[in-house]
Amino acid sequence: MKVLKGIGVFKGIAFGKLHMFEKKTCTIEKREISNAENELKRYKSANDIAVRELGDLYNKALKDVGEENAMIFQIHQMMLEDMDLVCFIENLIETQMVNAEYAVSEAARKFSMMFAAMDDEYMKQRSSDVKDVCQRLICALISSRSESNAKSKLSYIIGADDLTPSETIQMDKKTVKGFVTMQGSHNSHTAILARTMNIPAVVGLGGQLKEKYEGCEIIIDGFSGTVYINPDVTTVRRLKKKKELCDHQNELLKELKGKKNITIDGKTVDICANVGSPADLDGVVQNDAGGIGLFRSEFLYLRRDDYPSEEEQFMAYKNAAVKMNGKRVIIRTMDIGADKKADYFDLPKESNPAMGYRAIRICLDRPEIFKTQLRAIYRASAFGKISVMFPMIISREEVVEAKRIVRQVCDELDRDNIPYSREVEIGVMIETPAAALISDELAKEVDFFSIGTNDLTQYSLAIDRQNNKISSMYNPHHKSILRMIKMVADSAHKNGIWVGICGELAADEALTETFLSMGIDELSMSAPFILGIRKKVLEINVDEVKEKIIKDLSF
Ligand code: PEP
Ligand code: MG
Repeated sequence: MKVLKGIGVFKGIAFGKLHMFEKKTCTIEKREISNAENELKRYKSANDIAVRELGDLYNKALKDVGEENAMIFQIHQMMLEDMDLVCFIENLIETQMVNAEYAVSEAARKFSMMFAAMDDEYMKQRSSDVKDVCQRLICALISSRSESNAKSKLSYIIGADDLTPSETIQMDKKTVKGFVTMQGSHNSHTAILARTMNIPAVVGLGGQLKEKYEGCEIIIDGFSGTVYINPDVTTVRRLKKKKELCDHQNELLKELKGKKNITIDGKTVDICANVGSPADLDGVVQNDAGGIGLFRSEFLYLRRDDYPSEEEQFMAYKNAAVKMNGKRVIIRTMDIGADKKADYFDLPKESNPAMGYRAIRICLDRPEIFKTQLRAIYRASAFGKISVMFPMIISREEVVEAKRIVRQVCDELDRDNIPYSREVEIGVMIETPAAALISDELAKEVDFFSIGTNDLTQYSLAIDRQNNKISSMYNPHHKSILRMIKMVADSAHKNGIWVGICGELAADEALTETFLSMGIDELSMSAPFILGIRKKVLEINVDEVKEKIIKDLSF
């Protein structure tokens, strides 16, 4: 047995075989093939998979969002079966002896250009649809190739040097029981996704994790950040017991479903969920969230080769609004940049991307991308209680400009007679020290604040949240951070707006008393933490602890 020590990012135990993750490059390589017949077969079976997937999506959308909106998946199915497209791809494979992925990407390029050049507005819009269906086809082709390498489809644990957020999000929760990586830190987006997906994970293992462990039985202990390779019988027995205990505690927490988040002395707080993708919505409902406090919309932009269309985004936001059945859903406008990259944005290479061209900076600089997203969000607001918030704000001017663009979008919707709610709240994330320090001014421009403690910590302490070498210095409990949170809460309340926390700190039980003493109105976290924090809230008496907590934080 080998014992490896890393950073546990989700408290859980997982057993499985280790499968080392192969990085898939986004760029499609042109390969010469020797057997066109085999390649045509690959293409046909990938096409069948894509058509089937679209059928499933159609059925799901039919239930969730109605026939009109589900239609798009039928259109995509028809496109995949369109004879012009099929003949083009088959012809390229046969005459040029190239791989199917390349032939499909060439078809995407040619047909999307052809549609884009048409005069008819409806046909023009099909340009992004054809790219979308071809991307689905390419994914089916790529996974059919890598599936043959996979050792087992049954409960395995992914091992990798590092995983990007987009690689993490594509993991199938049914088969991936956990993951272990050489790089990574507690507050990287990959770690956050593991928590949202309820998957035990240990990161930052460095060179201890070796390729030669491929196929070995392993156990992850996310509580202590320990990984056991080929565990001995005693260790298996001990960890099985620990897992049983953990499962039992989770069962007990389920009894808190339906209960209010109310302290002993009668103070209430909203406990909401953070989501990274529509797939997280079931967990949100299962864990009895009071709403969605952070919808990280940028995940809709990852793992694809073109911008998501307005329609596609609309469906995702509408689906969330409908599923939450009147509870608030806060959509954060896309926070692309830093570790969440999408090639088609053509972002410049930066030496310091976390402080670079990202999030609201891109949106204000390329308003056409921003407007598409805002239209989708506002259209979805007709189907539930949607709020919108802007990330990475550093000035009042940015907020004023973002709101001006929102007004433009609303005017256009009015002009086109498209319904939307007139009560969409607009908020900002407070995740830069600049925003915290001018929160009194910002509060006059918006309806709410949501404090992003992950970035607020990174920027205040000048500690890269991704860098595991200095992760022991990444201390969100630092007095400077807590003082800023209190300052932001005071600015919000003085100006009559509410304030939440949507960074990872919201789920930190050691600070629940502190946040309630500050009067924080909402805590938003990965869904699996919600009932644990509810339990904590039920045990607190704010009146008893408030004075001391606030005094300790004072200047
Ligand atoms: C944060 O910075 O705290 C936050 C919630 O946003 P993200 O983690 O997506 O950067
Ligand atoms: Mg952030």
